[in-house]
Amino acid sequence: MAWDFETDPEFQEHLDWMDEFVTNEVQPLDLVLDDPYDKSDTAGLELITPLQEQVRERGLWACHLGPELGGPGYGQVKLALMNQILGRSRFAPTVFGCQAPDSGNAEILAHYGSDAQKERYLQPLLDGKISSCYSMTEPQGGADPTMFTTTAVKDGDEWVINGEKWFSSNAKFASFFIVMVVTNPDVSAYEGMSMFIVPAETPGVKIIRNTGIGNETEAEGSHAYMHYDNVRVSNDHLLGDPGAAFAIAQTRLGGGRIHHAMRTIAQVEAAFAMMCERALSRETRNGPLASLGVVQEQIADTWIEIEQFKLLVLRTAWRIDKYNDYRKVRKDISAVKVAMPKVYHDVALRAMHLHGALGVSNEMPFTGMLIASEVMALADGPTEVHKTTVARQVLREHKPVDGLWPSAHIPARKAAAREKYAAYFEREAADH
Ligand SMILES: Cc1cc2nc3c(=O)[nH]c(=O)nc-3n(C[C@H](O)[C@H](O)[C@H](O)COP(=O)(O)OP(=O)(O)OC[C@H]3O[C@@H](n4cnc5c(N)ncnc54)[C@H](O)[C@@H]3O)c2cc1C
Repeated sequence: MAWDFETDPEFQEHLDWMDEFVTNEVQPLDLVLDDPYDKSDTAGLELITPLQEQVRERGLWACHLGPELGGPGYGQVKLALMNQILGRSRFAPTVFGCQAPDSGNAEILAHYGSDAQKERYLQPLLDGKISSCYSMTEPQGGADPTMFTTTAVKDGDEWVINGEKWFSSNAKFASFFIVMVVTNPDVSAYEGMSMFIVPAETPGVKIIRNTGIGNETEAEGSHAYMHYDNVRVSNDHLLGDPGAAFAIAQTRLGGGRIHHAMRTIAQVEAAFAMMCERALSRETRNGPLASLGVVQEQIADTWIEIEQFKLLVLRTAWRIDKYNDYRKVRKDISAVKVAMPKVYHDVALRAMHLHGALGVSNEMPFTGMLIASEVMALADGPTEVHKTTVARQVLREHKPVDGLWPSAHIPARKAAAREKYAAYFEREAADH
């Protein structure tokens, strides 16, 4: 297997351009605008739209898409390198046309949508003209989707949706919702759930409240508690086949998880850079913090942890490109999903601590990073669930042995090894 850690020179040029563009043009937006998803913020759009134009001219718009959807089809390794830059700014994914949840929703519309659905929902989404929401989690069922109770019942040519969902991110900005519902309660949840596209203006679609994360106010919050009350949609709003919701959800979540991880690299590198700066500039009576062994140990541990995480993400990206089938890389993606919040949390906590009182203040980003790391540990599935996936997949690569392990097997293995190298041992005995 050949490992090459350099990318080709033409793509490196794109990365260099992105590096400068994100630092100088996009990161400042984080300091003056509120929400990258708010398409009603005309002042914000005035600043964002010309930047999006530059990205399009450069051929870097919606790079997660294949050529059939107008993207360059770079593949995940190149996307990993790009996302490590985009992850520095809340606004960068919007400026580059690859923001969640729209990117994942576009992926499933492209895969499973009818021509009419693609024209009505996918195209304006890809053009950045509308926003969307993925509405799956329910108050009584999150990590375990078999607990979902929202239903869609057929009534002539229409379906009637009833139930509640929560943590439906960006509902308040969305033009349409992709909603996962039970359509056949008589079979297993894996065969009895379907996906619907529900336009936001459909009667009965109600946002009860917008939940904020951490100390966000309700006005700032964007994770909606939704009621779907007798919501009627025609049959052509079914996305994919009836009963296909689980397969559709997996198509969406695989890509989403690895892209979050790629962007998390940028966040941990930013926290680490601040940590190093602080260590070098903060003086104690014996010299800078960086001269203390305990601080050096933290710097070394953190650098090693970040590099290990980057390699895991890049290798997983490489395997996705190689196999082109998310089912074959479930273990790798789940491993990344487990590692991501841990490294984010550990690095943010160490950086925060090294900054002393300033570290816990709202003038530094660390408290927000700690909450963001916990969000990463929950959204798209809790850590424990992904550890179970990793363990199950790993254990499939091994088999049980007969009898007592290891005592029954070690003597037999030793004897077999002695026999294999018998000639060597005989020669050695003769020589002495
Ligand atoms: C900021 C944010 C944005 C989100 N956006 C969306 C969105 O846009 N659309 C959407 O549909 N959902 C969204 N979610 C919901 C997210 O997908 C769920 O939070 C997640 O699936 C976990 O479900 P839950 O919160 O109900 O936790 P629960 O299922 O109640 O799990 C709680 C805890 O129980 C333990 N646990 C649960 N199951 C197991 C198990 N099998 N083995 C071991 N331990 C277990 C774990 O410790 C877990 O953390 C979002 C969540 C957050 C925080």
